[in-house]
Amino acid sequence: MRKIIVIGSSNTDMVVRVPKLPLPGETVLGGDFLMNLGGKGANQAVTTARLACPTVFISKVGEDVFGRMALEQFDKEGIQTDFVFTDSQHPSGVALINVDRRGENCISVASGANASLLPADIDKAAAVFGSDDIILMQLEIPLQTIEYVVNKFHKTGATIMLNPAPATQINIETLRNITIITPNETEVETITGVCVQTEEGLREAASTLKETGIKNVVITRGAKGAYVLSDEFEGIVPAQKVKAVDTTAAGDCFNGALAVALLEQKTLKSAVEFANKAAALAVQKMGAQSSIPYRRELDI
Ligand code: ADP
Repeated sequence: MRKIIVIGSSNTDMVVRVPKLPLPGETVLGGDFLMNLGGKGANQAVTTARLACPTVFISKVGEDVFGRMALEQFDKEGIQTDFVFTDSQHPSGVALINVDRRGENCISVASGANASLLPADIDKAAAVFGSDDIILMQLEIPLQTIEYVVNKFHKTGATIMLNPAPATQINIETLRNITIITPNETEVETITGVCVQTEEGLREAASTLKETGIKNVVITRGAKGAYVLSDEFEGIVPAQKVKAVDTTAAGDCFNGALAVALLEQKTLKSAVEFANKAAALAVQKMGAQSSIPYRRELDI
């Protein structure tokens, strides 16, 4: 059976609502405390599973309460967790988040076990990779692991998607065998150095990526939708017009949904339309994983 293999991070987000963000050395007495599962890899795996695609998650957590909670949740979501490895040397990844009344935030992330997801782990999972699967990765695990996956599997026929988030300067030449790259505007500017505030800039940045050999470029643009450059289509695919209340994980939902639509053999343009619809549902709800829609909500 064709499936989506998400390779990426799993974190626990610990959020404190504060009246103001603390300055260095300052203690601010906060309000509510919320603990949510997150990490771009986990968010994208939850999306593909909720949108009813067979999903395998390759990730690493610590031998601790956060790791156990994450595994339990993945099981509930119907995600195959045979290759969510447990690391006895490093703790699970955590993000400490302060959010003030205006929604402004300040985040520090301890990558923990995510930083030790290495090529040897990919080898342990090698038998799960099929030639017509979609592999979906982000940049919250070591770059050497991502490069290893691209080099190992691009000749098999598998579709390799990279969501180059969070914004990181990477040498895109080493990743030219990716099938689809999906930066947001900040990320594409970081990678290419091209300002994308105009359609001309978008085209230039996308062409820079495509010239390396990457076949399909999808630049997400928040409420403006996405710009696509591929052999089959070039142009803007507008977002749904909705009232956004929280855009956390919009990009993760977009990427997971895009992979689902491509697995279902939609054209790239209609896959982007589907991803825009899924992400529009996510931005109308608070939270990260809690805002990710289920398939029945999209098929209406
Ligand atoms: P990220 O969350 O990675 O910064 P974007 O802000 O580009 O990514 O958003 C990803 C996708 O989410 C967009 O391409 C769009 O489909 C959807 N989206 C984001 N914000 C809105 C919004 N205000 N209204 C409708 N759709 C949105």
